[in-house]
Formats: sequence, C-alpha cells, structure tokens
Amino acid sequence: MTSERTYLDYNASAPLRDEARAAMLAALDYCGNPSSVHAEGRKARAIVETARAQVAALVGANPAEVVFTSGATEANATLFAGTWDNIYVSNLEHLSVLAPAAENAGRLHKVSAHGNGIAAVEEFAADVLRGDAPGRAIVALQLANNETGVIQPVAETAEFARAHGIAVHCDAVQAAGRMAIDATALGADTLSLSSHKLGGPKGVGALIVRDGTALPTLVKGGGQERRRRGGTENVHAIAGFGAAAELARGDLARQAEIGALRNRLERAVLDMTPDAIIVGGAAQRLVNTSCIALPGRSAETLVIRFDLAGIALSSGSACSSGKVGQSHVLAAMGLPRERASSALRISLGPETTARDCDAFLDAWRSICAAPGHQHQIKTAAGTGGPLPSLSGVH
Ligand code: PMP
Repeated sequence: MTSERTYLDYNASAPLRDEARAAMLAALDYCGNPSSVHAEGRKARAIVETARAQVAALVGANPAEVVFTSGATEANATLFAGTWDNIYVSNLEHLSVLAPAAENAGRLHKVSAHGNGIAAVEEFAADVLRGDAPGRAIVALQLANNETGVIQPVAETAEFARAHGIAVHCDAVQAAGRMAIDATALGADTLSLSSHKLGGPKGVGALIVRDGTALPTLVKGGGQERRRRGGTENVHAIAGFGAAAELARGDLARQAEIGALRNRLERAVLDMTPDAIIVGGAAQRLVNTSCIALPGRSAETLVIRFDLAGIALSSGSACSSGKVGQSHVLAAMGLPRERASSALRISLGPETTARDCDAFLDAWRSICAAPGHQHQIKTAAGTGGPLPSLSGVH
C-alpha cells in the first residue's frame, strides 16, 4: 500500500483495485436497467454479462452458472432457504453458513475438526454409510478457512457425497484468487464468492450454481438472474467485481511470491518469539494467511497496539462488528481458550510488499518479543524506523 499504514488484513477485506474502481465509475454513467430492451438497458446488460464471464473464468465455471448476489452471506443463505432433511456442516464454517443452516428445519449434523484445522469429513462419510442421512441432504464445506487459511478436502468430500446423492455446497470466499479453482474438478454443486476479498467492492458476490442444480430462491422478485435471484442488478458493483476477478485470475501466478513473504514473516516471528504457535501450520494452507498464537498475550490488546503502530491485522477471535468472543474455528480445532484468545491473523495480498512485512516484524519485535529477544532481525528492507510510543496501552 502506498500510505504509511501497513495493511495486512486481506481476509477481512482487500483494498479496492484501481481497475475495479475504474470499471465501477464507468458503469455509473449508464442509467439503463439491464432488463430494459432499449439501448441504455442493453449497455447495462452488456456490463453485467462481461462481469459474469470474468467471475466465471476465475473458477472455471460457465457464465450462465453465475448468480450475482449482495455478497457471500446471501449466497450461503440461499442454499439453506431450501427444504432439506439432513444438513451436514463443518464446524469450521463461516457464520454465514452456520447460522442459516441452524435455522433450517432439517436435521443439522455438525462435522468436527482435527487439531490441524482440517474438517473431520470421515465422520460425515461414516454417518452416510450408516444410513443416517436419508431424504434430501446437503453437505457444506469451505474450500479454505478464513482464520487459519487451512485448505479443506472439498474434492474428495464432494465425490463421496455426490455418489450418495447428497448436494455439496462450498464456500470458496477465501480461496478464490488465492489458489487455482476448477469448479468441475472440485465437484461442488454450488460455490459462494465475495467480491471484496478479491479487491472488488463490498456488498456484491456470487453463487456459482453448476448446471442442472436446483436452487432454492431466497430473494424472490422480478425474475432477474434467470429467475434465481430477484432484484435489479447492482450494475456498477458487479462491474467492479468482474474487473477484480479478472485481475485475481492473473495474480494466481504470483502466489509463490506471496507465500515466500508469508513464510519469511513466520520464520522471523518464530525466531523472535519461540513460544509463538503457527495455528494450522502443519496443514496445507492458503499462501497468504498466517494465524499466530502468542500464549499469555491478549489478541484484542495486540490488535490495538499494532493498529497504533500503523499495522492493520485481525485477532483470530474477532467474529464481526468489533465483537470480542472466542473463535469457534480455533475452539473447534481444540485450541485451549487461553491460546485461542492470543491468536492474531495476518493476511497478505497481491499488493503486499517486503517492506510491509518488515514494518510488521519491526512492530512485532517492539510489541511482542520478550526483552531478551529484542535482537535486530534481518529483513529485506532494513530494520525500519522508530516505532510510535505505545505507553498507556496495555
Ligand atoms: N464466507 C467466508 C469464509 C468469509 O470469510 C466471509 C467474509 N468474512 C463470508 C463468507 C461473507 O462474505 P460477505 O462479506 O461477502 O458477505
């Protein structure tokens, strides 16, 4: 980022890409409704359809399979607006999956997680083989976790589920643009995506509905989106989403670079604070995400101290709206409360530089390292300048 601040919270929301902003501004100049047949309407329709193709390409889907929504929360909720007899959800899922799944009249089965952050999908398989999931059943498994970055066994789970006539929903919000996704190889019937994790605007997302999948309608209305989601399309936001998706697809080639920055950052943290724990570090993770627990420290306090030092990051335990609570993800992994409440989430993106990581490491040394460990660390861009005084913050 160009400002003095260092932004390491891409999993919460990524900075708006210039191309997404430009696409949105251009779209704002067209007054037409995409459903209108006149020239103005057709222009708006063309903008939406261009974005649809761009979003589809990011995950290897067909444009006709993309249903634009107000975000991934709506996309996830759509699945659970349906009638299900049995619903399986990993207890690592985002609340936008867990909450509507719990409200559905169907029987809810929670799939637990292993200590490494991977969902215990074998529990789901054992249940199904025992005949415990009769009737209409669905399993929801995210592709990568938003707190730890741990990648879940979606393809294997989907293959098993489909062989048993069970629908598969995959929340791919954090994975999209951060790992290659081929919707066909993944095998899920539906996938949810969110624009603002990719550098597009907030408040727009998509549900990818694979061909032939029957979809419950959550937002009923004028028959837009091929009767799958009512409401006049949010044309300029969709345009920004499309532009961001196209850039994200190009950035997939840079994942190794981002991973190298993340790995260097983690090594330096462990060097300075040997008692730090990389949560989920034993599993395959998104290259951009690092969840670090520092036993004995309060993540909420640390987030404030980093913020004052110019660094934006999250506590692993923050759910939403500044709410402080225990992370259900870290609890599901069996992390003791004290350890979970010390977890920070650092998440990088395509604009993250070595300087950003160095700024973070300078702050880490000042805020987190025990006095005996405050040696100078080797970083790519030197050791950085003095840090602001943090007196008064405990
Ligand atoms: N799923 C996951 C895994 C997420 O991280 C988020 C955003 N925090 C959502 C769903 C919800 O996305 P949106 O903000 O577009 O509603």
